[in-house]
Formats: sequence, C-alpha cells, structure tokens
Amino acid sequence: MIQLKSAREIELMAQGGKILAATVEHLRGVVRAGLSTGELDQIAEDFIRSHDGATPAFKGLYGFPGSICTSINSEVVHGIPSRKRVLKDGDVISIDVGVGYKGYFTDSAVTVPVGRIEAETQRLLDVTQEALAAGIAAAKAGNHVGDIGAAVQAVVERAHFSIVRDLVGHGIGTEFHEEPQVPNYGKPKRREKLVPGLTIAIEPMVNAGGPGTKTLSDKWTIVTVDGSPSAHFEHTVAITDAGPRVLTAL
Ligand code: MG
Ligand code: MG
Repeated sequence: MIQLKSAREIELMAQGGKILAATVEHLRGVVRAGLSTGELDQIAEDFIRSHDGATPAFKGLYGFPGSICTSINSEVVHGIPSRKRVLKDGDVISIDVGVGYKGYFTDSAVTVPVGRIEAETQRLLDVTQEALAAGIAAAKAGNHVGDIGAAVQAVVERAHFSIVRDLVGHGIGTEFHEEPQVPNYGKPKRREKLVPGLTIAIEPMVNAGGPGTKTLSDKWTIVTVDGSPSAHFEHTVAITDAGPRVLTAL
C-alpha cells in the first residue's frame, strides 16, 4: 500500500534530507586515492551521528554491516565498506547514504571520481546525473511512475549506455523501502499515478556496457556481468502541488 505523507511529514523528511545532503557533500570532499572505503564509512557514520537525532539508516538494514554502501568501478550498488579496500587514482566510487531522522528516512547516492578518470567514464557519470534530473522533472502530480522511467530511459539510451533493470527506485518514508517501485525504464502514463504526498527515491543505475548484473559471493555486492563501469545517482523526491521537491539537496 502506498503511504502518502502530510505536509508536516514532508517537512520532517526535508530536515533529515538536509543532513543527508550535507553528509554526501562532506564525503565527496574527502574521497581521494589512498582512502579505504572502511575509513569513508566511519567518516560517514561520525558525520551523520554528529547531528542530533540522525542515524545511518543502512546500518543493520536487512543485516547490512556498513553505514553506507561503497561500490567501486564495475560494482553497481551495495558494496560493503572495508579497511582493505583502498581507493586509487582513476577509480569511480558510488556512495549510497540513508539517514533516519524523527521517524522518517531519506536516501541519496552519488558517483564520485577518484583523481583523474577516463573521459568515457566521466561521460557515464554525466549522463547518469542527467538521467536523474530528467526523472525528477517528470515526477509531477498527474504523471505516472512510468513517466519517470521513460524520462530516465530516454536520456540513457540516447547516450548508448545501459539501464540496470534488476534494481529499481522505491517509495520511502517511515519505512526505508515502501511502495511503489520506481523502475528506471518504462512507458509514459503506465503504472501508479503520481499524487501530492507521494515520496519516492529516484535512482538510475547505468552501466557503460551491457545491462546485466550479478551478486558476488559476499551476498551483497552487485556488479556488472561484463566488468564495465557503473554509475548511480539518487535523490529522495516529494510530489507536491508545486511540482517535484528534492528533499536531499542542500
Ligand atoms: Mg540509496
Ligand atoms: Mg534507494
């Protein structure tokens, strides 16, 4: 069942979302060659908890061990932070962060270059970010969930990259994953209608190569089958009468 939020609930989500946005900005600033993803995880947890009442939502979610997900290069999502995993020049790292605050969750992700990266990988990051922006622009009351997916898909396929179809965006609020599912592909006017009070995480995952993914033996990390790099950008968005409101931007 879809849980619509009141204006008051959306305000609380926006407060948590601001903490999340500040966390993502902070992490983006500390990423460098030589830093381990385990250290990045600790920095994230400390930063989130330095805000009164805020908690790292991923810690223990479905048994996940980290406070954030850190997915490098061909890792799509759900990479487990580790002190043994050290960033090097030319990597890209997807950082996925969830924050709990006053009973509500928000969710956001960015993919960040480490030092100098290949031009084609930078294009992958740019296109994925552009696809997220297109998906957000389509998140208007009166549209449907399929309009979001169609908008994301158009940007990605025009750029000759592949959308990951095995994972989707989602409703979010008092639960981290709520209905509806928000695929990054689809057709306009299909699936659920977007109404004011709906809060969703829109999160294109885009591969430079083919769309296929598989799960590693750690049972968490999802990687591209062909080893190509992957990018992930995400915002939590509220559908309002005044248009889409991004809750996880500064
Ligand atoms: Mg996320
Ligand atoms: Mg999400």
